[in-house]
Amino acid sequence: MVDLGAQHQLIQPQLDTAIHEVIAASAFIKGPFVQQFEAALAAYLGTKHVIGCGNGTDALQIAFMALELKAGDEVILPCFTYAATAEVIGLLGLTPVLVDVDPDTFNIDIEAVRRAITPATKAIVPVHLFGQCADMEALLQLASAHNLYVVEDNAQSIGGTYHFSDGRKQASGTLGHIGCTSFFPSKNLGAMGDGGALYTANDELARRIRMIANHGQAVQYQHDCIGVNSRLDGMQAAILSVKLPHLDEYTAARQRVAAHYDEAFSGIPALKIPVRSRHSNHVFNQYTLRLEGLSRDSLKKYLAEHDIPSAIYYPLPLHHQQAYKGWATPQQQFPVTEQLCRQVISLPIHPMLDEEQLAHITRTVVSFCKANTTQA
Ligand SMILES: *Cc1c(COP(=O)(O)O)cnc(C)c1O
Repeated sequence: MVDLGAQHQLIQPQLDTAIHEVIAASAFIKGPFVQQFEAALAAYLGTKHVIGCGNGTDALQIAFMALELKAGDEVILPCFTYAATAEVIGLLGLTPVLVDVDPDTFNIDIEAVRRAITPATKAIVPVHLFGQCADMEALLQLASAHNLYVVEDNAQSIGGTYHFSDGRKQASGTLGHIGCTSFFPSKNLGAMGDGGALYTANDELARRIRMIANHGQAVQYQHDCIGVNSRLDGMQAAILSVKLPHLDEYTAARQRVAAHYDEAFSGIPALKIPVRSRHSNHVFNQYTLRLEGLSRDSLKKYLAEHDIPSAIYYPLPLHHQQAYKGWATPQQQFPVTEQLCRQVISLPIHPMLDEEQLAHITRTVVSFCKANTTQA
């Protein structure tokens, strides 16, 4: 699905230099490379604090710990997301409240959130899925009216921009109390191993996040609260510092691929191309089609036969997963999520796809649709 080799080849000398600098300085854990990257990312995002951590899942866990959520507190999250969003809520003993998503943007449905709020609700977790922001303006209004925390799962949307109705623009992940991201290699800003970060504009939250990510200590061997061991290492930070200045260029390349796909597929009734939100740009961590009236398994198989990878994000809604079965009552319905899990298919999208590869992919998808639509 992604060609990291080709991307890294273009910046190989800078990566080599960065890695050698880390080795020469033996600054593997914390240290100047991490500080430098945190400052650079904070400046890029236009937020006050960025705190590196071990991965995106840890970032979410640390966020809930920093907000001092406790067992029984209700946290509202979308049913259509990667399991990591849900996992940490379960691990911390918080009470998950699943809600359905918007059929066009695949992001959390604000009216469903409104209906799910109870006196026990403490936080909402919008996931900016596939590269597009949830409707944050409405969500922030709702959160502030009910005095709720907003933790953004920005793992798939780093580099994205939210558009307020008054014309203001702000980096995705910096709108709520805490934003969480992942530097997993296939994310839009990928490291060469695991990595993650939290963003916040709040000094006190930043202090708590730093402390929790480092065994609950602000001063060495003085543990003020129970924390975790979750750090971005110097090597990953140095690599990310080389890649961050290229993020906008990577995003633009992804957007060009998406535009190419849109054009090739827009005349085909069975293919629903990704709907663009009014509220944000789209940074296309994934290019996800909805298939109507065609067999997704057959398309996937047909693509594989033509050496084209594809992926299903996500085949099973959270509440149907063995681990999360108890998270919804039989009365709770998530019709949009259920339908998306049956219909979605993601095509290769990364900054290094060339014209020829793109033409091969679009031709193959279109020929499958034509062959199977006439039969129907
Ligand atoms: C990747 C991802 C995460 C977790 O990030 P890791 O670094 O893999 O732990 C969380 N949420 C979403 C939506 C993701 O896509």
